[in-house]
Amino acid sequence: MTSPSDHFDVLIVGSGHGGAQAAIALRQHGFEGRVGIVSAEPHLPYERPPLSKEYLAGERPFERLLIRPEGFWSERGIEHRPGLKVVAVDAAARRVECGDGSQFSYGELIWAAGGTPRRLGCAGAELAGVHYLRWRDNADRLRAQLPGARRIVVIGGGYIGLEAAAVLTKLGREVVLVEALDRVLARVAGEAISRFLEAEHRAHGVDIRTGATVASILGEGDCVRGVALSDGETIEADLAIVGIGIDPAVEPLRAAGAAGNNGVDVDANCRTSLPHVFAVGDCAAHENRFASGARVRLESVQNASDMANVAARTIVGHDAPYDAIPWFWSNQYDLKLQAVGLSAGHDETIVRGDPATRSFSVLYLKEGRVIALDCVNVVKDYVQGRKLILAGASYDKAALADPSVPLKDLAG
Ligand SMILES: Cc1cc2nc3c(=O)[nH]c(=O)nc-3n(C[C@H](O)[C@H](O)[C@H](O)COP(=O)(O)OP(=O)(O)OC[C@H]3O[C@@H](n4cnc5c(N)ncnc54)[C@H](O)[C@@H]3O)c2cc1C
Repeated sequence: MTSPSDHFDVLIVGSGHGGAQAAIALRQHGFEGRVGIVSAEPHLPYERPPLSKEYLAGERPFERLLIRPEGFWSERGIEHRPGLKVVAVDAAARRVECGDGSQFSYGELIWAAGGTPRRLGCAGAELAGVHYLRWRDNADRLRAQLPGARRIVVIGGGYIGLEAAAVLTKLGREVVLVEALDRVLARVAGEAISRFLEAEHRAHGVDIRTGATVASILGEGDCVRGVALSDGETIEADLAIVGIGIDPAVEPLRAAGAAGNNGVDVDANCRTSLPHVFAVGDCAAHENRFASGARVRLESVQNASDMANVAARTIVGHDAPYDAIPWFWSNQYDLKLQAVGLSAGHDETIVRGDPATRSFSVLYLKEGRVIALDCVNVVKDYVQGRKLILAGASYDKAALADPSVPLKDLAG
């Protein structure tokens, strides 16, 4: 039995970007009921992207990662219960149970539990020198081991692996990056961006190995001594950092019967198939018009925040379906990458500007229409290009490719 003090009108599971924003938006929209956030992490809500950037580099202290100052939550009557992991959801009884046996009942539940880093499955993966970068505690553990590490192998050439490689190189470490596919960022960016970034990283001293798979992590006691590749080569290393994606953290919801096979499925208002249960952020698969209506699960701050706003507005009674244009950023060295739209399914790319200048954009077209842009150090293309995507029109390709023609002139 839960006591009245354990009942929340809205209970939010997860205090990342989605969970924190859901609570903020509820209050912004005048919601006066009792709002609670339970989260497995023992920290106040903080920004996750700096974990592979300024925080890893030691350039930004944790206090400056906080999404809101400590007093904000209690001033708004948002009850934050850190260090509690929800292990079961009873949707009929509108109740959740946590790992320590505590229970909370709710009027509406917002599931914003993000994801868990996908683990390496090979021998040696459990050594203490094998690291992941998802939560603050991961980054702290890695930072604590850095002083004793000279050579580091980064496994995975996605954004997190590339960002970590950039930071570690700047910190004077020798970095080898191992990517199984034939280019970095293969799942999210076009070849021009991949090749440009590979060249940048190599110029900064990162040894990039594409088409290379890890067979095992070699250790001595609990320490990492190297990474064995499937082709028989051994790369000497003191630490390994694994960035090979996440598994959406939805087990309790799935066990309760929520539909979905890649996270949980939500409708345009972020409702799951369970009554009174919403899901937002990295764990929520939704139909996205920027993916031609396909069901996608996006992993970005934009998506988590915008979905959280939709769930909060729905709860207060405003019908405001999710329709935000996806965007994302990544910082590596002095490069600012900004992506807008979704490039999956493109049938043509246009490179606008010369990559050798380290300032250019790649436009992705489908049936003649711009569906996405990746911009490297060109903020104005990113800002103006989103209008081209939203307009959904066809433009003169020579003009799209010509950096002297502002995209805003085309957008009209
Ligand atoms: C290192 C790194 C760098 C990134 N860089 C960028 C970037 O540059 N730009 C960008 O747009 N995006 C970036 N991202 C992605 C972005 O951070 C995520 O998309 C965003 O944090 C998703 O928000 P979320 O609320 O869905 O999940 P999360 O932020 O992951 O929050 C989920 C929270 O739920 C908690 N939780 C999980 N399970 C339970 C449970 N059962 N019970 C209670 N609590 C639970 C977790 O501990 C966590 O605190 C980065 C991510 C990482 C890890």
